[in-house]
Amino acid sequence: MTNHNETLFARAQLSTPGGVNSPVRAFRSVGGTPRFITRAEGPYFWDADDRRYIDYIGSWGPAIVGHAHPEVVTAVQEAAARGLSFGAPTEGEILMAEEICKLVPGVEQLRLVSSGTEATMSALRLARGATRRDKIIKFEGCYHGHADSLLVKAGSGLLTFGNPTSAGVPEDFSKHTLVLDYNNSQQLEEVFRTVGDQIACVIVEPVAGNMNLVRATTEFLQTMRRLCSQHGSVLIFDEVMCGFRVGLHGAQALYEIQADLVCLGKVIGGGLPVAAFGGRADLMKHMAPLGGVYQAGTLSGNPVAVAAGLTTLKIIQREGFYSTLTAQTRELAERLTAAGQAAGHQFCADAVGGMFGLYFSAQIPDSYASVMASDKEKFNRFFHLMLDAGVYLAPSAFEAGFVSIQHNTQIIDATIEAAKRAFAHL
Ligand code: PMP
Repeated sequence: MTNHNETLFARAQLSTPGGVNSPVRAFRSVGGTPRFITRAEGPYFWDADDRRYIDYIGSWGPAIVGHAHPEVVTAVQEAAARGLSFGAPTEGEILMAEEICKLVPGVEQLRLVSSGTEATMSALRLARGATRRDKIIKFEGCYHGHADSLLVKAGSGLLTFGNPTSAGVPEDFSKHTLVLDYNNSQQLEEVFRTVGDQIACVIVEPVAGNMNLVRATTEFLQTMRRLCSQHGSVLIFDEVMCGFRVGLHGAQALYEIQADLVCLGKVIGGGLPVAAFGGRADLMKHMAPLGGVYQAGTLSGNPVAVAAGLTTLKIIQREGFYSTLTAQTRELAERLTAAGQAAGHQFCADAVGGMFGLYFSAQIPDSYASVMASDKEKFNRFFHLMLDAGVYLAPSAFEAGFVSIQHNTQIIDATIEAAKRAFAHL
């Protein structure tokens, strides 16, 4: 029998580097052939061989209301029929900005862009422009998109600036980026004590979803808030992933800590390209055309994408949405933990809102180092056993998973049955 995924993957590699348009899709970390997806509905998607999977990546976050939600699809169809893009303002963009300002603490104004990368890149430029400083702080294990200043890993010492994680990033860029340890307040204090007056901003994933799932401690974020205020540095919460995921009002509400700027993406586009950065109006006034910080986009605030985003934002505000989503995700994490441990594995899982992490380690990790110490080989085998059983997990031990509102008890039951068999065969 033809394996259409293999055929497509071979063909894709002829016209596209590595056969994919975003590296993690290539299954490099877990091995094997990526599945080419043909359609999706609710909690499921189907591959080129018409095999159905329970989908736990949800397009890496956006699919929070489930795939192809009828209301979202109708809104997109109606918007498309009115024209695809105008390059002139629309009322939809105002509605979108008003909705986000209403829901996200401290966001008085925002600008719409088309990807999370653009949002963080622009927020950095704004922080640098507003403070007239160059240096930034980020944390090892956090991913903020692929802008040059952010593709940087830790240098050899605390106060040495970082090294590029990608070829093509000039050291002249990375030398302005300090990379520190996540959840290490003492280190942050030390760095601010030494170079605090040169720091334009600190950018952080307050719930990190790009090194599996790692929660920031409240104390770490409080320290960061205090130091930024003391030194006139801008605190940027990158909530591209955790915004509208960990709760309706994001990580700021969860931790009761207010950032100066917030980056959003994923859920706010409902599956189409919408992202945003926003925050205090006195900072946002530095953006062109009002101020000197330049940023623009041909497709920014695209009417079809905004229609998908607005409809998604409407659905997630319905009574009980987040309590249901949170309960479902917690149930998944608890039952997976029980199944893994009953089978004798060092395994645990954690959930925050509609995000979860799976760890082949004895304890839930709280740092980049502890995530890296988990058993990656075991995860890879588990991933493939689950995939064969029709459950699609993130194809890497170092990525978070995502649950939609359509992942009900029946879906979780089916997942746990598959997991029990997988754990038994590991
Ligand atoms: N920030 C975070 C926290 C992310 O998780 C991502 C993407 N996974 C980005 C920024 C970049 O977003 P995009 O892929 O839309 O450019």
